[in-house]
Amino acid sequence: MDILPDKSYVWQYIEKNIREVAALSGYGEIRFPTFEVTELFDRGVGDTTDIVQKEMYTFTDKDGRSLSLRPEGTACVVRSIIENGLCAQAMPLKLYYLSNFFRYEKPQAGRSREFFQFGVETFGADSSLADAEVILLASDVFKRLGVKSVVLKLNSIGCNECRGDFRSALKAYFTDKKEGLCDTCKGRLETNPLRILDCKCPQCKEIAADAPKTVDYLCDNCKAHFEGLKGLLDKAGIKYEVDPFIVRGLDYYTGTVFEFVSDIGAQSTVCGGGRYDTLVSSLGGPKLSGVGFGMGITRLIAAMEMDGVIPEDPSAPDIFIASACASARERAYLLTRELRALGCKAECELCGRSLKAQMKYADKKGAAFNIVLGDDELEQNKAKLKNMRDGESTEVALSADEIYKIIR
Ligand code: ATP
Ligand code: MG
Repeated sequence: MDILPDKSYVWQYIEKNIREVAALSGYGEIRFPTFEVTELFDRGVGDTTDIVQKEMYTFTDKDGRSLSLRPEGTACVVRSIIENGLCAQAMPLKLYYLSNFFRYEKPQAGRSREFFQFGVETFGADSSLADAEVILLASDVFKRLGVKSVVLKLNSIGCNECRGDFRSALKAYFTDKKEGLCDTCKGRLETNPLRILDCKCPQCKEIAADAPKTVDYLCDNCKAHFEGLKGLLDKAGIKYEVDPFIVRGLDYYTGTVFEFVSDIGAQSTVCGGGRYDTLVSSLGGPKLSGVGFGMGITRLIAAMEMDGVIPEDPSAPDIFIASACASARERAYLLTRELRALGCKAECELCGRSLKAQMKYADKKGAAFNIVLGDDELEQNKAKLKNMRDGESTEVALSADEIYKIIR
């Protein structure tokens, strides 16, 4: 994915804010490799998920090992904390990442084959306080960036125990209506009936509308956990809707699942996450609970655009120093250097163009001030400093300190 300067400043602004929000809640950054052995995702994401079945970029290396570009972050983080002994550290373990991921999907608005996520994972905290903290963190990012259009949708899909009954009820329900399901979902009926609830086909959605709901099958523990979370969100003034159709597309979720959605188009989920209490042990680690989310940066930008909160490009130069003759170029070059040392965004002419062309360039870049250096200016060691916004000129000595005093 190409991100050019006219957009990259927005990415930098988002990343800076995200890092600040994460640090305020005690999350440390984790960075992990671009690819992993394929088996990690087969086991960690689930071999009945679309991601593993259809969307991974898998290749064989020179040793004949099967490797895959990371399609998501949670399995990578879990692999890393097990391998690096972090599971033995003081709990909870709070980690975040800002990384790119790869999925062979049909490219469309809000869906690309390389995409970026801000992800958060909290390990070793079973209580709904951890779920609430993770949700608040996502909510704080939206708040800080001025995004108001997102809606939080919440559900609980139960633990492995209560999910057994639910799964049977779901299977019975869909078996009755099998003929109406798409071919993929006919297969899912045997492998993973829960996935049918996540199908995007209109006919499957219609059938799923009356399907049994996870919340009606929760065991006492899961029910108490879910009620606890709702209470904590209420107390923090976080609005949410309980939505029984939020099941998420990955196999590892247990209990809480949530999405922040916004009206940005067909791909409306800006952030999705939940609890995954069996993932660490299933990947060879100790019994350690987890809860986290992934927030898509391009969809976040789409929500910011919709809400009109994209900041202005801060890269415009404070000053452009034009040179009207060859002898002025060196002075312009040195003055630019001195101004930069003072913290001023300064540029001078590098292409040897006419004064008119230089001014056109300065205007296009949105320079706040300009100075034209010619023989007279060099001789008198003075020049006109022009404010390009209001057209006013001030006479200044050709000294970086003097210029800086006026333009800063
Ligand atoms: P969706 O239902 O939108 O495909 P998902 O369930 O596959 O999402 P996750 O794997 O949970 O999504 O990823 C979390 C977030 O990452 C999504 O909500 C979205 O913002 C972003 N995301 C996922 N896949 C893509 C993609 N191909 N292109 C852009 N952003 C993506
Ligand atoms: Mg997807």
